[in-house]
Amino acid sequence: MKILVINAGSSSLKYQLLDMTDESVIAKGNCDRIGIGGHIKHTTFNGKTVDMDCEFPTHTEAFEKLVEVLTTGDAAVISSMSEIAAVGHRVVHGGEKFGATTIVDDDVIQAIDDLSELAPVHNHPHALALRACKNVLAPGTPQVAVFDTAFHSTMPEKAYMYGMPYEAYEKYHVRKYGFHGTSHRFVSQALADAMGKDIKDLKIVSCHLGNGSSITAVEGGKSVDTSMGFTPLDGVIMGTRSGCVDPSAVTYLENKMSLSPSEMSDYLNKKSGFLGISGISSDNRDISVAAEHGDKKAKLAGEMLRYEIKKYIGSYAAIMNGLDAVLFTGGIGENSDDLRADVCNNMEVLGIKLDEKANAGLHGKLAKISAPDSKVQVWVVPTNEELLIARDTKEIVEKNK
Ligand code: ADP
Repeated sequence: MKILVINAGSSSLKYQLLDMTDESVIAKGNCDRIGIGGHIKHTTFNGKTVDMDCEFPTHTEAFEKLVEVLTTGDAAVISSMSEIAAVGHRVVHGGEKFGATTIVDDDVIQAIDDLSELAPVHNHPHALALRACKNVLAPGTPQVAVFDTAFHSTMPEKAYMYGMPYEAYEKYHVRKYGFHGTSHRFVSQALADAMGKDIKDLKIVSCHLGNGSSITAVEGGKSVDTSMGFTPLDGVIMGTRSGCVDPSAVTYLENKMSLSPSEMSDYLNKKSGFLGISGISSDNRDISVAAEHGDKKAKLAGEMLRYEIKKYIGSYAAIMNGLDAVLFTGGIGENSDDLRADVCNNMEVLGIKLDEKANAGLHGKLAKISAPDSKVQVWVVPTNEELLIARDTKEIVEKNK
């Protein structure tokens, strides 16, 4: 069974074609500059590539190109689109409507589009991609939506409500939704498998640390709390996002700097975080190099992230009344051994003890990095959202046959 996985952004369309008999990637690529030009980069399992400028006025043309490179020319991997059994789409926001992976029909596409109010940057492009895909696929090919928020739909009310008048929730749907759910679900299950334990018996803190970062308390396989909130701005300091700040600081700055709400949103989402603190870069590698060369603000940015991660681990251990494992994933979590060491250092109070040797130099590999006598196991678990989307898609399509 071949499954196409789509991750559509406002001006890009990333894809992977997977063969689910062995979960191998047959081809992958990215159509970008949609609406402002167009470019496709496509790579196959046997090293063939397409890398060219195109005309992509909308997602539909990008899709048509994707079909063309998959089915014709030197880097083709299938002879026709009818070989694709189903398409799985990453969808960022499922609101309260979608608590699980869902087969897509016209009503579902409309509901995803209607949720654009809560995720303007993401949901509308998802809806565009879903509609474009429908036009291009062989008739009857099922499409499936896998929601980033769905894994967090198990959070209790006391965790997802904000202490504001109840009407903010009832009338305007303001609550914590949480994001990166597909990743947290994938890595927490992969961790349980690696530990040889049933996930139902585990209390895990999952740290997904990349350009965007979120930390989730996973108890018995379910998300019980997470650091991102109503939007992916909340929680720990990120590449360009502030993470948690006192809302009064926001209204105060809006007044002082005469910023409109959308300018303030840009300030918090695009000019803050590592970039805002350091004035150098949003990228963890640049920050680390600058800190090593004695830049105080870069060092501060890195220290803030480490400190905040520690706070989340401690608070999530408290709400779960225990902790069996901590896992690191995402570009920073999988690659930054010094961050992992700093976070796990001085955490004996929680029963965390790192194996410095196992941790050092470890990049993007599944591995245990805690000491044999550590009460809490610490692991690096590479994430693979596309694979989980493909697995979910296969499962739901087979069930609904
Ligand atoms: P996104 O959230 O966009 O998916 P990623 O998960 O790819 O981002 O993470 C990007 C972050 O990972 C960047 O801050 C980058 O500096 C960091 N990163 C990638 N490789 C390394 C590395 N070898 N060492 C330290 N940090 C790294």
